[in-house]
Amino acid sequence: MESTQCPAHPEEPLRPAIRGARDHFWGFDGRFDYQECTRCGTWVLVDPPTPENLGVYYGGYYSDEEFESRRKTFDRGDKPPILGVDGVRAAETIKALRREGATVDSDLEVLDVGCGVGGFMRGMEFLAQTKVRGLDFNPRCRDFVAEVHGHEVDVGELEEQCYTDQRFDLVTSWHCLEHTYDPLAELKEMRRIVKPGGWIMLEVPTPSLIARVFRGKWFFLQPPTHLFHFTQPALEALMKRADLTIKGVWRPWLPTELSGSVLFALGHHGFARRILFGRKTVTNVLWTLLFALTIPIDLIVTPLQRLLGKTGVMRVLAQRGEGE
Ligand SMILES: [Zn+2]
Repeated sequence: MESTQCPAHPEEPLRPAIRGARDHFWGFDGRFDYQECTRCGTWVLVDPPTPENLGVYYGGYYSDEEFESRRKTFDRGDKPPILGVDGVRAAETIKALRREGATVDSDLEVLDVGCGVGGFMRGMEFLAQTKVRGLDFNPRCRDFVAEVHGHEVDVGELEEQCYTDQRFDLVTSWHCLEHTYDPLAELKEMRRIVKPGGWIMLEVPTPSLIARVFRGKWFFLQPPTHLFHFTQPALEALMKRADLTIKGVWRPWLPTELSGSVLFALGHHGFARRILFGRKTVTNVLWTLLFALTIPIDLIVTPLQRLLGKTGVMRVLAQRGEGE
């Protein structure tokens, strides 16, 4: 597809939405614009870097500090692992599937696309003993997941794997579709590799009210690795075009949207390397304290957003038709 167009409505014109946004999350240099689809409001990164040039912006993903920090959160002893957001996602996925009448047990084969350090896979195995396999572009994630969780991870893009048709019962993808150049092709590939009647569960950031207030300072914007920010009509149209039936759309609870955006609006740059995994310099400690002060407000606002169906995150469960 062409570089700057809405993936769901390539024929529709775009209008300027955000100018000169910076990557405040990872803290890389560069300024980026987004345009907005005049039909569905999806944000599209203008003139995205080529895959070769985008590589550098992934340099912050899974640093040594992050691997070390994640290693500590996964307990390898007899106690249940600490799974956090991944555990909540696994529990909610299992619940949603069972509500649809699916059997979620040790026969269920799951592929987690963009599995990272494997928390979701660990959660599925721990909560429902499902078979899990991961996919990530980073070979270090493969090594980490094998060592810490004992699961296999394939490396590279989804299409490169050439998985056989109808191999999996469930394909999941947490905050990855917005990183792909051709989201429709990605969804079609997911459909091809799930069995008839099989499931696709994915979650992406979506332009919420907070996004539209903070715009270039929105916590989930993360240019230029986030090529798109889909609205619900766009994601539904793409799912439909990939011949998938939508079974549920949720706006889940994911704190830090507001507190992170406030921090960026106050001039913070480089959240991941300064607050999440940074050295304890005086400046970093002060930013961390400021962030901690805004968290209680976030924890009040996020459930309200969820109640109104307006959080900055959208989760969709879709099914491939039976007997197809
Ligand atoms: Zn659109």
